[in-house]
Amino acid sequence: MVWLRREDLEDLECRQLAPIAARSARLGGRRLPEAEDALRTAFQRDRDRIIHSPAFRRLQGKTQVLAAFEGDHFRTRLSHSLEVSQMARGVATALRLNADLAEAVALAHDLGHPPFGHVGEEALHALMAGQGGFRHNAQGARIVDYLEDRYGHGHGLNLTLATRRSLLKGRVPDGFPLSPDLLPKQPPPLEAHLVDLCDKIAYLGHDLDDGLRAQAFPMAEAERLELWREASRAAGNPSPSRVISELISLLIHDLVTTNEAEVARAIPGGKEPHLHHGEAMAVASQQLLEFLREHFYRSARVLDVMHAGQERIRSAFGRLLAHPEQLPPSAQARIPHDGLHRVVCDYVAGMTDRYLVRLDLT
Ligand code: MG
Repeated sequence: MVWLRREDLEDLECRQLAPIAARSARLGGRRLPEAEDALRTAFQRDRDRIIHSPAFRRLQGKTQVLAAFEGDHFRTRLSHSLEVSQMARGVATALRLNADLAEAVALAHDLGHPPFGHVGEEALHALMAGQGGFRHNAQGARIVDYLEDRYGHGHGLNLTLATRRSLLKGRVPDGFPLSPDLLPKQPPPLEAHLVDLCDKIAYLGHDLDDGLRAQAFPMAEAERLELWREASRAAGNPSPSRVISELISLLIHDLVTTNEAEVARAIPGGKEPHLHHGEAMAVASQQLLEFLREHFYRSARVLDVMHAGQERIRSAFGRLLAHPEQLPPSAQARIPHDGLHRVVCDYVAGMTDRYLVRLDLT
């Protein structure tokens, strides 16, 4: 037989992955039980459902640092998620963790982001004070569990518990409406921590690239960074793209070599490995993060657009609260179950930057 069946893939997982890695056959349970696919593992199926969802496609219109309409070459949440997923697959494969789970989690990790990035998130959280608040990770779980109702069974994309728990990593506001089976919060699989670290590697690399492209800071400033200098030496080539590519490689290789021994040794039920960068790389990447905060994330160039977006979020929210008849019928239908505040919040959070800017609610 030349083709690989799902059972063969599950068997390969058992034989090839590290003992601590997530196994799809064991962790592939779903809220609504379903027959298994003949070809794909449960995590591969999660990945495919995420890619086919409208919420995933809307990431192309959402701010990463610059608003999605500011230029065709800047990163959006979609291109960011794709970069994270290829890094997460690579690191997971090198550490013999489950690359399919890491890929699915990476592709979904920003699904819950509202328009206009973290500034948009702060605005929605304030508008939802006393109503369960708002945070992008919790919203991501809400999207895949509930709001993406493509199949009409009321369980959203009906992803595996392993993927859903991974999306919930990080703080969740008190009273935020989550599926009851996610409470109390349980530790996510190791692959979720790996995606977190790859998320950071991806944005450090591409925000440096986008910042240079946007002329948020001159190249001479970037060249003073320890990580830039090290990458430049390793690249042996002064082209900024080549240096940034090398900088990403340095961070990824450091992640693999720092953690390989501990991951290989770890056993389920034992002490969970704490994935981290080596000391020198942790210091150098923190320096780069501070640099980006000062010269890019908090620059007037970025913040002026974000604050204008934040104002639009507040005004759309207020207007829809006062005139729920302007919500689409599918959203209005959820009001009796979720309450008006939450429905308005879900609707506004789902918008792309462009959709919100063009929205005319008068
Ligand atoms: Mg991210």
